[in-house]
Amino acid sequence: MKVAVFVNQQKPIGDISKVIHQQVAERGFTLDNDNPDVVIFVGGDGTFLRAVHHYLPILNSVKFIGVGAGHLGFFYDFNPNEIDQLFSLLKEGKLKSTRHHLLEGKITSESGVDKIYAVNEIRLENPFHTLVTDVKIDGETLETYRGNGLVVSSSLGSSAYNKSLGGALIDHSLDLLELTEIATIQNNINRSLGASLIVSGDSHLSFTGNFKEALVGYDNEVVHQGDVLCLEVCRSDKIVTLLHSPDYRYIKSLRRSFIK
Ligand code: NAP
Ligand code: MN
Repeated sequence: MKVAVFVNQQKPIGDISKVIHQQVAERGFTLDNDNPDVVIFVGGDGTFLRAVHHYLPILNSVKFIGVGAGHLGFFYDFNPNEIDQLFSLLKEGKLKSTRHHLLEGKITSESGVDKIYAVNEIRLENPFHTLVTDVKIDGETLETYRGNGLVVSSSLGSSAYNKSLGGALIDHSLDLLELTEIATIQNNINRSLGASLIVSGDSHLSFTGNFKEALVGYDNEVVHQGDVLCLEVCRSDKIVTLLHSPDYRYIKSLRRSFIK
């Protein structure tokens, strides 16, 4: 088995890479950061996002395992002092795997079409002026939205920006998309849903309007394209596989991150 180590460079946790490298050698695995079967990411949720984007071209043949040191974090199950146990479970094939579609965004602008992929969410935001956009779901018009912007979140991303905006948390085992509003204008003339909307994972959302100064953001990235004409968001064929400890439960990660 080929193993890669992906470390949060801003907040390194001790000499954990060394410990992992030792285990890789002792267990008869190979270290391969370019073409791994398994990526061990060391850090929080942001580190997981960066690891997924790093391995995007080979995503469907890679599995991710997380090691974290904090009280916060949805995507890691092991502490730095559990590396030995992690490798035993990996060797014995006892880790539990879960699979999650990424989001895919298609940005149509005057200069052409761009594709983006996201673990958490794709955002359409205008921090300068009111964003006005027609919102369609599966070709059916929902509304003309006016406000600061809209976020399309995956189940994995529901606990991130989406949660701060008052969106619902979605169990990671559910394949759903959530559309959430940012500082919406609501008055006698302008009306939009005014609630977070959860739709089926195979839905196709489209946003069209005058996006002169709008930003399209995805995970920890932003693309500023002054001439965006349309943003379409749907589920991607790209799938991220997470390996969990056998006692992993979604509710446990909720408690660890938000309750205690
Ligand atoms: P960051 O600015 O360090 O992230 C902001 C916080 O969101 C961090 O505490 C991060 O955890 C946490 N986070 C990331 N993904 C999460 C998830 N799926 N569930 C729960 N918490 C999550 O930037 P980053 O680490 O690169 O993460 C990018 C994400 O930050 C974006 O996708 C967006 O969802 C989120 N964000 C949130 C707000 C907001 O809530 N107002 C604003 C901007 C961005 P770690 O500390 O473990 O990395
Ligand atoms: Mn972060």
